[in-house]
Amino acid sequence: MFSNKKKQISIIGSGMAGLAAGALLTSKGYTVRIFEQNYLLGGCSSSYWRKGFVFEAGATTLVGFDTNQPLAFLSKETGIEIPRLTLELPMQVHLLDGTTISRYQDSGEWLAEAERCFGMKGQAAFWRFCKKVSDFVWRTSTAQRFFPPEKPADLLEALKAVKWDQPLYASLSLMSTMQLLNWFGLDTNKSFVAFVNQQLIITAQNTANEVNALFGAAALCYTNYENNYVMGGLINLVQPYCDYITQRGGEVLLRHAIEKIEDRVEGGHIIHTKKQGTFETDVVVFAIPANNVVEIYEPAKPHLQLMEGEQLASAFQMGIGFKPHRNYESLHHQVHLEGPLVGVGAKSIFLSLSHASDTSRTDEPGLMVASVSAHFHNPHLASQHPDKQPAIDQALAALQKADLLLPENIKYLHCSFAKEWEQWTARKWGFVGGYPQFMQIKPWQMNGHRLPAVKGKTTAYICGDTTYPGQGIPGAALSGIIAAEKIAADWK
Ligand SMILES: Cc1cc2nc3c(=O)[nH]c(=O)nc-3n(C[C@H](O)[C@H](O)[C@H](O)COP(=O)(O)OP(=O)(O)OC[C@H]3O[C@@H](n4cnc5c(N)ncnc54)[C@H](O)[C@@H]3O)c2cc1C
Repeated sequence: MFSNKKKQISIIGSGMAGLAAGALLTSKGYTVRIFEQNYLLGGCSSSYWRKGFVFEAGATTLVGFDTNQPLAFLSKETGIEIPRLTLELPMQVHLLDGTTISRYQDSGEWLAEAERCFGMKGQAAFWRFCKKVSDFVWRTSTAQRFFPPEKPADLLEALKAVKWDQPLYASLSLMSTMQLLNWFGLDTNKSFVAFVNQQLIITAQNTANEVNALFGAAALCYTNYENNYVMGGLINLVQPYCDYITQRGGEVLLRHAIEKIEDRVEGGHIIHTKKQGTFETDVVVFAIPANNVVEIYEPAKPHLQLMEGEQLASAFQMGIGFKPHRNYESLHHQVHLEGPLVGVGAKSIFLSLSHASDTSRTDEPGLMVASVSAHFHNPHLASQHPDKQPAIDQALAALQKADLLLPENIKYLHCSFAKEWEQWTARKWGFVGGYPQFMQIKPWQMNGHRLPAVKGKTTAYICGDTTYPGQGIPGAALSGIIAAEKIAADWK
């Protein structure tokens, strides 16, 4: 049994990971059904309408379409094209001393800017090295679609795709980004280290002492690739994958929360929804965090490495509809804070704006939409931070000081902490952004994509930002791609 593509594949979760897996499996001829607990698609990469504005649910920056990157791979395999604008200036960073740093995409322009802001010493060699490593990481990640190897056949595929330089670069995962800074004599440059730490927080969820140099170099070069904006918000990133699946016989069932999965005696699984009864499936893919999987699928428990609340983060987030008082050179701004955000702990906030030409984000001409987010530590203790107002006031004051947003121009504002994230995504404790990078976990030790086999056959898989390769839209998409490739190899 389960020997052909007619078998039903059920995916729990319609975030970027679930949709990437679903679209790729559909393109390979499998029939896919996605269960989503929310009333909208996309999880942490989605958009919703409220009070006359279209707000981003979570993610706002978008990379992944350059050659060798996961969203480009998905387009190539499925033919799905995502309409998008490429940003001229991917990001600006506002330091405490008033310096504004422009993170240009072009490596030469960026190097000149880095030397202007942080001095000449070590910058050229450091950034050239990081870009080389980053190109390697992307090139390898989509070529190595059976990583981490979980059985001999994966290892064989991995060996087929191996290039001579892989072991050399892989050794960088044994050292921290801070050690890399030390190599280039940059670890004593205080303002540069502060900049690097806050940049890493965005893409690696941790700072230079804990992010390995392989991941860190790629994370720091995030802005040196095509950065994109999707008109109407990121709901228009995820919708085309859903359309692709449903137009080819698949289903995406919204408002279907899954509360338990059981193994069937004859193989496959029984899916128990909260309100819509049970469904049977041959193969199940959990596109939800590992911490959630173990709560609804008992057999996964001994197999998955779980991070605890104190290692994870949720997000402080404000959705703001406002009247702009100026033109903006960039849509994305990281603002360093004088002191940690009250009750949240973050040392910087991240502001993302709707594109000036995107009239679909507001009902009222001339207004714009802003999303402000920051890392919120210890999401499992979220009930101890009930008062949002001090954090809101501090964040607004920092944005005003950086001349990015004037409080008097705000038309509407709402704010989310961990509790709201838990409601929106059903993620345990409302933790978001995936598993942060930690030195003690090497890429090959991250959660793989297969769950324990039943009667010698694997019928349960996992993907998403708590499995390899981890965080962000491109990371979650890549994990979905790898899960789909492993399923296709197991169920030829
Ligand atoms: C505030 C914020 C800002 C971010 N900024 C960026 C950014 O700028 N760029 C970037 O690339 N990444 C960013 N990220 C990270 C990125 O959004 C996520 O890592 C990625 O979208 C995660 O995708 P996923 O599919 O793994 O998980 P999710 O998006 O969480 O998807 C899981 C889905 O499963 C559903 N679900 C959960 N449990 C069940 C259940 N029992 N039954 C049915 N459905 C269920 C959820 O509702 C959800 O839709 C940000 C995240 C946040 C929160």
